[in-house]
Amino acid sequence: AKRQRDGEPKRFCSALEQKLEEQLTLERELRIAIDSGALSLHLQPQVGAQQEVIGAEALVRWLHPQQGMISPGRFIPIAEQTGLILPLGAWVLKEGCRLLGEWQYDPRLRDLKLSLNVSVRQFQQPSFVEQVISTLRDTSAPPERLTLELTESLLMSDPEGTIDKMLRLRQLGIRFALDDFGTGYSSLAYLKSLPLDTLKIDIAFVKDLTLDMQATPIAATIIALAESLGLDVVAEGVETADQCTVLAHLGCHVYQGYYFGKPVPAAEFTRLNSASSFI
Ligand code: C2E
Ligand code: CA
Ligand code: CA
Ligand code: CA
Repeated sequence: AKRQRDGEPKRFCSALEQKLEEQLTLERELRIAIDSGALSLHLQPQVGAQQEVIGAEALVRWLHPQQGMISPGRFIPIAEQTGLILPLGAWVLKEGCRLLGEWQYDPRLRDLKLSLNVSVRQFQQPSFVEQVISTLRDTSAPPERLTLELTESLLMSDPEGTIDKMLRLRQLGIRFALDDFGTGYSSLAYLKSLPLDTLKIDIAFVKDLTLDMQATPIAATIIALAESLGLDVVAEGVETADQCTVLAHLGCHVYQGYYFGKPVPAAEFTRLNSASSFI
């Protein structure tokens, strides 16, 4: 009865206010976190046809003093709205390249690739290419081991600028993957005009895969499309052996997902995959 008397509009308003307040607090705290070493990278393995580790995707984490580990799904959108994605993205780039530089001293880590997520706003900074070049130089990271993951929304807003930047970075040896492929609206014409290396099949299309091949048209279409464009394809969110079997059958041979390994702190990934761990 009390609930009815309160009246919907008021409750809606205060819930909204509370949400806004939470966001403002998070924004203020994130600003501090970026400068104070509270961010870290977790690495998730990417494996090849023999289930061997061929690289990793870096996923940022925030260790919040009260709330514990916060996932990027909660703070990346805030960072994007507030512009904090620029210092955050610069930190991820620097930390990722630092790892790549460090890996060069280990015969097993040396050949691994590292993928970094790049937000639209970060990529669209006029100085982005220069930022990458100076970060590579500062960290002695080999550019040919670095993959940048972009999303389709980038192509919607500034296709020409995007292609120009991609070409300049590609000359250095950097590779590009289109993330979450199939969830956006990029036209095939766009896709063809982009200097891409890899399509990442979104988890949504991997989730449905079963040995019953009737249920696989989207994944099959994406893999065939990648093949016809001469692109590699990585399936994300692989959680079962069956999904992997179906993907292999469809022609996808690089996988990422809990079935092969969850994201782990970078130091742990390094330890697990270093030469000394195989002695
Ligand atoms: P994403 O780039 O699509 O990353 C894949 C997400 O799927 C990660 O979530 C990963 O932990 C999760 N995942 C991997 N394998 C599985 C699986 O088998 N099952 C399920 N259910 N999930 C799986 P995470 O780490 O929470 O990251 C979420 C998103 O946050 C990322 O999606 C990416 O868009 C963004 N993000 C993460 N790190 C960064 C970053 O450094 N910069 C930017 N701009 N965005 C980032
Ligand atoms: Ca990604
Ligand atoms: Ca993705
Ligand atoms: Ca995703």
